[in-house]
Amino acid sequence: MNATPLVGAIEAGGTKMVCAVGRTWREVRDTPAHVVPTTTPDETMARVLDWFAARHAVTPLSALGVASFGPIDFAADAIATTTPKELWRGFRWRQAIATRFGDLPLGYDTDTNAAGVAEWRWGAARGRDVSVYVTVGTGIGGGIVVNGVPIHGLLHPEFGHMFVPRQAGDDFVGTCPSHGDCLEGLASGEAIARRWRRAGRELDANHPAWELESSYLALAVVNIVMITSPQIVVLGGGVMGVEGLIERVRHKVRTAVNGYLPRAELSTNVDRYLVTPGLGTYSGVVGAFALAQRALDAGPAST
Ligand SMILES: [Zn+2]
Repeated sequence: MNATPLVGAIEAGGTKMVCAVGRTWREVRDTPAHVVPTTTPDETMARVLDWFAARHAVTPLSALGVASFGPIDFAADAIATTTPKELWRGFRWRQAIATRFGDLPLGYDTDTNAAGVAEWRWGAARGRDVSVYVTVGTGIGGGIVVNGVPIHGLLHPEFGHMFVPRQAGDDFVGTCPSHGDCLEGLASGEAIARRWRRAGRELDANHPAWELESSYLALAVVNIVMITSPQIVVLGGGVMGVEGLIERVRHKVRTAVNGYLPRAELSTNVDRYLVTPGLGTYSGVVGAFALAQRALDAGPAST
């Protein structure tokens, strides 16, 4: 008999839902996940919940955690009506999961908040009072974790939609449907692809795209550092996988801060301050696992 409860984890993205079960974060990371394409809520959730129900029939799950795309309107308990994923506007995780699992404890949060919690518990931000996780992928998002708790506030942080000074010579209009040339509009994976008319993975490490990209990301990181004073900044997401990009961002952050913050983290030790995720590409699904564990501790039907 295994005393550690089995819980389910869903990393809910705009293109796919990554589903896993496990008793420990390592089990969640190391067991091949079940992947369902994100289409309509009805079709996607039927497939996701069928899979968890089959696992549940073998060994009952004690809780579920969801690391979801956003924005999420926590007051309304729903995906915000401003999400670009139109079919999912107003979608309610709690309601959808309750149709099959009743009052099974459920924890849900944004994918970036969840990843931030996972990095704080088991990854690169362990032991930090204040840490920040930023993901640069198709979109840009981020979370602030204070003593293990992701901050929400009005809704939750939306780092991707901050404004950064446009770089000289860059006349790209930007891709954000709400703001045009916000950070996400200028520096997300989608922005890279539309500006250069090729996906980022097809651009070699010396392409001018990365000089521009590192400038925008460094400005964003400096804003984050000046506002939240984190003890570590974790930069994840597919775009950060580009060879040499994080080194360029570190260099530009250090240059922009210009010695103003009297800490080695912003000068000689910047390579240990601006880091890639300790959990690699698993921060999201492991974050969902962390939310499930937290919901289990809190009891039925709590966030
Ligand atoms: Zn925007």
